[in-house]
Amino acid sequence: MSYRQKHLLAIEGLYPPEIGHLLDLAESYVLLNRSGKTQRDLLRGRTLINLFFEDSTRTRTSFEIAGKRLGADVINMSVSTSSVNKGETLLDTAATLNAMHCDLLVVRHDQSGAPNLLAQKVDAAVINAGDGTHEHPTQALLDALTIRRRKGRLESLVVAICGDVLHSRVARSNIHLLTTMGSRVRVVGPPTLMPTEAERLGIEVFHDMERGLAGADIVMMLRLQRERMQRGLVPSAREYFRFFGLDAAKLAVAKPDALVMHPGPMNRGVEIDSAVADDPHRSVIREQVEMGVAVRMAVLDTLSRGHGRNEF
Ligand code: ASP
Repeated sequence: MSYRQKHLLAIEGLYPPEIGHLLDLAESYVLLNRSGKTQRDLLRGRTLINLFFEDSTRTRTSFEIAGKRLGADVINMSVSTSSVNKGETLLDTAATLNAMHCDLLVVRHDQSGAPNLLAQKVDAAVINAGDGTHEHPTQALLDALTIRRRKGRLESLVVAICGDVLHSRVARSNIHLLTTMGSRVRVVGPPTLMPTEAERLGIEVFHDMERGLAGADIVMMLRLQRERMQRGLVPSAREYFRFFGLDAAKLAVAKPDALVMHPGPMNRGVEIDSAVADDPHRSVIREQVEMGVAVRMAVLDTLSRGHGRNEF
């Protein structure tokens, strides 16, 4: 088995065989899911807690379905129902969950680093389901699976990640994964929304969609994350769409078989035009959601066979 970590906290630092292992296993779960079968004995008697300090429908549901298809007991805890609202600290929450002997802990938090902190305090295997502007590793894995199934490889592709890269944990995880696997990543957007560490990340920065998308194999659009913006970093939504929103005309400079991706939720008419988002010949946005369940099953499966106290 090539994945040797107890947790999945980030893509940064993973080696190609570890990523390859998770994707290969996920591939088998795509087939299982399509056949309508489940594998409920794998995690029977195990407890998975979905601990969400930040809203999410798609990611939480995806982990819930993944856990249930493998037979785990899945408990959803959201911030509005937990005692965090009553002032309990993250570490108190960790101690409480630990006392309940949870095996797998899926965490989403608006602070970067919160899952790492929890991982140091609980016995469970921790999976980062998105922390602040840091990482969202299962999203990058599901994106990679979608790309690999369509393009047959993850190396030597030109991937344009467009829009609000600065605030995007999805972009950060994808940049680490795709550069690790040998693809070229460009980020495209207004200067106010570009990452500051482009050189360290090994990516190219473009402020113009026509140049950034030229010859791209993959066009990955990001949501404009207004909730994470301290001040007005962008003009009106209309103006943003005019310069950086993906429509058929802007997509025309990418390769003729370029795939259009978006992690969701989409702001239609802001970063992406509905005609492109819903075009079955170009858009793989629905497929990304399907791959999400398979990838999360692979992650739960792998970590449940892990090394450490949660071994079972
Ligand atoms: N769903 C993704 C995330 O949680 C992307 C987004 O919210 O825009 O980061």
